[in-house]
Amino acid sequence: MKRMQGKCLCEAVKYEISGKLGAVFNCHCSKCRRWHGAPFRSRASIDVSQFKLVSGKELLSTFKSSDNVTKFFCKVCGSSLHSTYENKPDVVGVALGPLEGVESKPEANIFTASKASWYEICDGLPQYESWPGSEDRVRKTNL
Ligand SMILES: [Zn+2]
Ligand SMILES: [Zn+2]
Repeated sequence: MKRMQGKCLCEAVKYEISGKLGAVFNCHCSKCRRWHGAPFRSRASIDVSQFKLVSGKELLSTFKSSDNVTKFFCKVCGSSLHSTYENKPDVVGVALGPLEGVESKPEANIFTASKASWYEICDGLPQYESWPGSEDRVRKTNL
């Protein structure tokens, strides 16, 4: 099975993702912008069984960004890595930035109502002011 490799900046935290990513969204919400220090976070959801931590478990630190969402990052180098969700324990949200071997492309821009004022979205993809509701809904719109 195809695998994607991810690692943090200091390379102590390494992980692998098997199988296919869910729909890739560029998230422009202010939390993603702050967490990544970037205009948006390219992210996808996967099943927890697809995610395997290879090394650095003891270096992972967490931050609860809301009642529902826990963000994982490397406490040595600060790289922002993945998210887990209280209401969806079988899902992991992964950032595409640290991954090698990604074949998927972004399908939409989400939370554009809170995008950085200085950043212009020019990719021609659908834009959603908030969460589009579901990945399926975006995929149907794109057909
Ligand atoms: Zn690190
Ligand atoms: Zn976001």
